[in-house]
Amino acid sequence: MKTAPSNLPSSSNPDSPPEAVPLLDVQRGNQPLREEILAAIRGVCDSGRFLYGPDVQQLEQSVAAICQTQHAVGCASGSDALLLALMALDIKPGDEVITPSFTFFATASCIWRLGARIVFADIEADTFNIDPAQIEAAITPATKAILVVHLFGQCAQMDAIQAIARRHGVAVIEDVAQAIGAEFQGQPAGSMGDIGCFSFYPTKNLGGFGDGGMLTTQRPSLADKLRQLSAHGMQIRYYHHTVGINSRLDSLQAAVLNVKITQLGRWCEQRRANAARYHQLFSQAGLADWVQLPYEVPDRFHVWNQFTVRVPHGLRDTLRGQLADQQIGTEIYYPLGLHQQECFRPLGYGPGSLPETERAAREVLSLPIFPELADVELQRVVQAIGEVVRHNRQAA
Ligand SMILES: *Cc1c(COP(=O)(O)O)cnc(C)c1O
Repeated sequence: MKTAPSNLPSSSNPDSPPEAVPLLDVQRGNQPLREEILAAIRGVCDSGRFLYGPDVQQLEQSVAAICQTQHAVGCASGSDALLLALMALDIKPGDEVITPSFTFFATASCIWRLGARIVFADIEADTFNIDPAQIEAAITPATKAILVVHLFGQCAQMDAIQAIARRHGVAVIEDVAQAIGAEFQGQPAGSMGDIGCFSFYPTKNLGGFGDGGMLTTQRPSLADKLRQLSAHGMQIRYYHHTVGINSRLDSLQAAVLNVKITQLGRWCEQRRANAARYHQLFSQAGLADWVQLPYEVPDRFHVWNQFTVRVPHGLRDTLRGQLADQQIGTEIYYPLGLHQQECFRPLGYGPGSLPETERAAREVLSLPIFPELADVELQRVVQAIGEVVRHNRQAA
């Protein structure tokens, strides 16, 4: 009979197979808050205010406070936030928007959806974020905006990017879906560009019980426009100035997130502690030549939505398969640059057109980093990687 408490991974019994280490276990974060969350949901149920209620306002205020912005506007998802941001900036056919290709699909699909031209810029090898030099090279008279992604929880090089945008008179949108709470030189992600776009998808650092999103901005005129566009372009009921969409944040999601957001700072610190521990364990194991660890730039506050290593020498898929055999969860974010996606083939980016993006797509592997990981689990991940590497080194 198993006597170890079920919430603690046990590695003490040599006869039992090693416990699985999931890539992400959202239940470990939600479970301790269960009663508080259920009470919040009950509150919405009893109030009957399912949209535009006080829960949504409270979350908007909390996100604005974290981001130090004047305004925050709820919407239905991170994808909608990106679309609404481009709509508010009047992006239209003939316009060009510069964005990375090494990101989640929604970053670029919103540009396409508005009939504007996606202009992909390559990434920096060390941070996986968009390279300011590549942005500069991609600017044309048709450029209207730069859509920056703070990938994996670390801010892009915002000082250089803002300088380019100012010089050419183009807008900056921040995709903060993976980076709520991150900072660049002390400035919060989502406060530096014209508009910040957030996601509360369950795997994000602040995840709800379904879809949800938020927009941040310092400018009251943009905040008004975003609110209107997310409500069918309507300011006075049933009078439409512009053609908007329907994209609202549910009170139920906001109620859940209002409970969870109180823990966000602690969760960020736990993710940071896990990342530091990985660095320590990997260096102790002498694996540096085989697994390149992610780089935290000294002037950034990284919130580690993903801990993404590079596995060169064509070993990435072998390693992933052998970790899966040992029940260690990993994921490839992302196996293809967006410029390599079939649906974007008409844009004409051939193989080799974005070399750093393509190399990253071949080499990256994301390891478990969620806040509640136990130290024995981190040790197991590093140990298992060490075994695979040693085996392949002998075979080589
Ligand atoms: C998750 C994500 C989105 C989309 O957010 P949803 O809420 O899932 O629509 C956009 N951009 C990036 C970088 C993301 O990681």
